[in-house]
Amino acid sequence: MPLSDNVRTAIIDAVEQGFPDQIEFTKVLVRFPSIRGKEHEVVDFIAGELAERGYEVDQFDMDPAAIEAHEGGGKITPEHSTAPIVVGTHRPRNEAGRSLILQSHVDVVPAGPDTMWRHPPFEPHVEGDWLYGRGGADMKAGQAQIFFAMDALRRAGFAPAGRVHLQTVVEEESTGNGALMTYLKGYDADAVLIPEPEEEMLVRANVGTLWFQVEVQGKPVHVREMGSGANAIDAAYRVVAALRGLEADWNAEKGDHRFFEDLDHPINLNIGKIEGGDWASSVPSWCRVDCRIALFPGIRAAEAARRIEETISTFAASDPYLANSPPKVTFNGFFSEGYTLEPGSEAEAVLGRAHQAATGEELQSFVTPGYLDCRVYQLYNRIPSLCYGPISENIHGVDERVSVESIRRTTIAMALFIAEWCGVEALGD
Ligand code: ZN
Repeated sequence: MPLSDNVRTAIIDAVEQGFPDQIEFTKVLVRFPSIRGKEHEVVDFIAGELAERGYEVDQFDMDPAAIEAHEGGGKITPEHSTAPIVVGTHRPRNEAGRSLILQSHVDVVPAGPDTMWRHPPFEPHVEGDWLYGRGGADMKAGQAQIFFAMDALRRAGFAPAGRVHLQTVVEEESTGNGALMTYLKGYDADAVLIPEPEEEMLVRANVGTLWFQVEVQGKPVHVREMGSGANAIDAAYRVVAALRGLEADWNAEKGDHRFFEDLDHPINLNIGKIEGGDWASSVPSWCRVDCRIALFPGIRAAEAARRIEETISTFAASDPYLANSPPKVTFNGFFSEGYTLEPGSEAEAVLGRAHQAATGEELQSFVTPGYLDCRVYQLYNRIPSLCYGPISENIHGVDERVSVESIRRTTIAMALFIAEWCGVEALGD
């Protein structure tokens, strides 16, 4: 049922009241340099904040066996984080409303060279409307929004009338296993909202993602008799060129994939990291290339993986050197499928009303060609999965920043969404 004017106004006022603290809280989160494998402290901090607010707190580890047994499980390598996942649960006195999951991730991508940043990446800084810092936009602002949207309801004198799980995960940037683990642990609800930095728009569809590493062996010789050796780095370049062919083939199929027809280049192959060789005057004997590629929704991860292996083996067979020294391919991270949010759900209508009240604009949807944890909820929980959050720039880049006013607007929208989706009960008595 749409919110009454009184309830709506009280919630908007409460978000405004809490907003200075919310920005300070976001900065506190940015100060944790929680890159992959180093999220333990920030997860503990979140667990403490949940407990302090009276949520029922469940902190648990990943279960590698259960993850590996699941078709959407990302590959577990020694780099995989051992940080736990934490879920805070709100239970209404009388469970009359719809339930909801609010999810965020606290892992952030590496900052790259500090010297390229205007301010050190883990020292948050507000300048004009922008809050700078690695992970500020992606997605510690969203983590803070979850806390403060819920706090605002309480300050306005209400509690959600449905069960709400506040889920904080890791591994969103590398495998998606944190979100998957909450599903495997049994967390479920009638809808999920993930406040990733999405330009105040709703994500309509999203690609799957695969990570893989290609290892090429060379034949090392002194560089003066280079012709008798084989250069692993040169050979890796040739393999990359073959993979670019696969990328072009997949992009050429975009017309067959609803919501992706109008995107310029939805399937991006990123050559993310390359290592190889030992010495400038020795023909290198080894090269390793870390890659990430996208896949359209509806394509199975295993099928895409098979196409990648086939592309590399077919190319290798045609290459005079690689025919006798085929590259090795290892899937070492994301093994995820894309998803589509079917238009017309009640959850989307409620978010639309909340967004309209917060911004005065109609909610727009768009398609993003990057990984999102919503895929777990849409594909496995099979619930409406709403990815919606503030305006940002340069996420995964240098001088990552998030708009403070956009955080304000989207927090209002989130708080109104929670109130209408779950319904509210009055606090007190
Ligand atoms: Zn993110």
